[in-house]
Amino acid sequence: MSTVVNPATEETIAEIESAGVEETDAAVARAKAAFPAWRAVAPADRARLLRRLATLVEEHHEELSRIESRNVGKPIAGARGEVGMVAQVFHFYAGAVDKHHGETIPVAGGVDMTFREPLGVVGMITPWNFPLNIASWKLGPALACGNTVVLKPAELTPLSTLRLGELALEAGFPEGVVNIVAGKGSVVGQRLIEHPDVAKIGFTGSTEVGQQVMRGAAGTIKRVTLELGGKSANVIFADADLERAAAAAPYAVFDNAGQDCCARSRILVERAAYDRFAELLIDATRKLKVGDPEDESSEMGPLISAQHRETVASFVDGAVLFKGEIPEGKGYWYPATLVEARADDRIARDEVFGPVAALIPFDDEADAVRIANASQYGLSGSIWTRDGGRAFRVARAIDTGVLSINSNSSVRPSTPFGGFKQSGFGRELGMHALAGYSEVKNVYYATEA
Ligand code: NDP
Repeated sequence: MSTVVNPATEETIAEIESAGVEETDAAVARAKAAFPAWRAVAPADRARLLRRLATLVEEHHEELSRIESRNVGKPIAGARGEVGMVAQVFHFYAGAVDKHHGETIPVAGGVDMTFREPLGVVGMITPWNFPLNIASWKLGPALACGNTVVLKPAELTPLSTLRLGELALEAGFPEGVVNIVAGKGSVVGQRLIEHPDVAKIGFTGSTEVGQQVMRGAAGTIKRVTLELGGKSANVIFADADLERAAAAAPYAVFDNAGQDCCARSRILVERAAYDRFAELLIDATRKLKVGDPEDESSEMGPLISAQHRETVASFVDGAVLFKGEIPEGKGYWYPATLVEARADDRIARDEVFGPVAALIPFDDEADAVRIANASQYGLSGSIWTRDGGRAFRVARAIDTGVLSINSNSSVRPSTPFGGFKQSGFGRELGMHALAGYSEVKNVYYATEA
């Protein structure tokens, strides 16, 4: 059994049966048995099922939002936004089923065409920070392509994904197509990685476990998509709308209490505007409402666990510019924290995955790009400037998969999301994700008499 806790109250909210290798193998066997019939389902019917699931998520919007808020400790307003995105993602992939085309290629003596074939059984391993969202990013394209699925949610946060599994059955997905298996990463996750009947692993989590996924997948030449950590830069030039950039910056790093692979946790500021921006940023961070996730106006909740809070605290030893307030009493709270750093300090290099942002000055455009790229990661980032040419020059020069100009947004159902360097590879969301859940098959038909 595993105990599921509300991180805001430290209360037990569920006891979950923890699956072992036997249960994992049984789920893979069910998914394997369901695959031939599922891949043969007419595209319009597959789309209809995905749309029905999207509608069920909409109908259970408040219930799913409450589950996610209590299990992850995220403010209810944010949880509602995330569940809204889950429905949009299933709607998007319902529409994508019959738009994932093959090609015909001019060749001599016949017709050459390509097909997008499903892979078979796909294993999915998801983290605790955005459990339902990340599950939908993987389930949507995998099911649209005609794969069957075994999904392992994080042990700390299985509740919303287990409920989604029930809704998938209610939507009418045939038995065995969507299998949710709750259990430990080192047991269920590891078995999925090694299982000869699993064709691919879609993984989101730490870079360290991502490395284990790659190593383990080598044994059966499994396909892998890895969405790993980040240390994204929020680059503020002196000519930017500083008020807007500073008002937005706290949400880009303290949202989800900083437990976000896209967190812009390095705030790079052009020296000429550094003091003014720091002042504005402190003011904006002071306004952040930290408190009970069930309170409609809360903007930041606690961290996921006591152990994670210790890890986050271990990073903060430098020049603290600002430390916010936290509620007293139970819960794994950690204050919104701003520190001043140099580009090579630990706090500026390693992923904290908590509400800690490092302010780093830069001299000019070249210096900004150099510092932004001085990271093993390359997931997300922002550029704030009124100079359009510079915005695009810097956007092209930063080695990262997702960038926003004069904005801090990273994810939309219709646009590709994923990392460069040790932030992983493969793309989620948009039509791009379909490539990760299908194989290209080339067929030549001789037409010569
Ligand atoms: P992990 O990478 O350990 O967990 C992510 C998922 O992988 C969970 O479902 C976990 O299962 C599973 N897992 C763990 N070990 C194995 C294994 N040996 N084989 C297969 N699956 C495994 O992340 P943590 O929860 O430990 O978080 C640590 C750090 O990772 C964070 O501080 C952050 O830096 C980063 N992280 C990044 C995320 C992102 O969005 N890119 C998300 C989460 C974490 P289980 O938890 O059930 O053991």
